[in-house]
Amino acid sequence: MSNKDWDSNLTPEQNYILRQEGTESPGSSPLNNEKREGSYHCVGCGTKLFDSSTKYESGSGWPSFFKSLPDVFEEKTDMHIGYPRTEYHCKKCGGHHGHVFEDGPKPTGKRYCNNGVCLVFKPKS
Ligand SMILES: [Zn+2]
Repeated sequence: MSNKDWDSNLTPEQNYILRQEGTESPGSSPLNNEKREGSYHCVGCGTKLFDSSTKYESGSGWPSFFKSLPDVFEEKTDMHIGYPRTEYHCKKCGGHHGHVFEDGPKPTGKRYCNNGVCLVFKPKS
């Protein structure tokens, strides 16, 4: 997708987070309290990223998942806050979504800490 296509459909905050690796305020996303069955998609390109069965309450203030769909993210290390963190972004559109940590629940031990504004929730119909 070209930059132009992206920009026309996204809010300035979504653009900032997806493109500049920004972070929304903790607790600001309505998806923190989303408990319904369904799937979470990339707001930039519509790719399905997470299933609701892998969402859990981490207490971090961001929507958290212990597992992504296979092969949807690319990871890289960033040093934005002075120590290394693993940032992940959508493989298809390149949009930044959040960071993955190694303190999640079993069976994966992963915590995908995702900006809610980068996700579109689609309830199971
Ligand atoms: Zn995407």
